[in-house]
Amino acid sequence: VKTDLVPLVHSILDRFDMNKTELIGIERKIPDEKIDVWIDKDKITQVIDNIMSNAIKYSPEGGKITFQLIRERKRIKISIKDQGLGIAREKVEKIFERFYRVDKARSRELGGTGLGLAISKEIIEGHHGHIWASSKEGQGTTIYFTLPLMNFKRGGRR
Ligand code: ATP
Ligand code: MG
Repeated sequence: VKTDLVPLVHSILDRFDMNKTELIGIERKIPDEKIDVWIDKDKITQVIDNIMSNAIKYSPEGGKITFQLIRERKRIKISIKDQGLGIAREKVEKIFERFYRVDKARSRELGGTGLGLAISKEIIEGHHGHIWASSKEGQGTTIYFTLPLMNFKRGGRR
């Protein structure tokens, strides 16, 4: 359904601010305007939940998470940046594969199934968006995804 993305992401991030126990700061770079997108709210919430929980889960020393929402000409771009462990260059693309986990032993301790990002990719591509990652081992990870803006929805229906 037609959804204003700005209050939706604020409410998701408010929930993370409430529940976080560690000393993790979440910085928001979100424009103060209405940004309508045509989305399944629950599914996009699930995507942001997973990327945010990963950022927290894989940032052992705490650190800062930066959530940025940018409006481009035909799409919005969200990036979620952490200062955690990072991922080796040759493994970055694999994190979107089903059941893939970078460090099996460590990931097992942290819990999870290795499905979060595979499901996120399916959801984003189902919305005609893209999802990708950039990371440097030891310096943190940024996950990006895009969603088409309302007026540019495929098929031209409003
Ligand atoms: P689940 O999401 O199913 O609970 P998970 O978090 O292990 O389990 P994904 O969210 O799909 O699974 O992530 C896959 C793997 O990618 C993780 O196990 C981890 O190794 C790596 N990864 C994901 N996000 C980050 C991040 N922000 N920093 C470092 N590694 C990450
Ligand atoms: Mg996950």
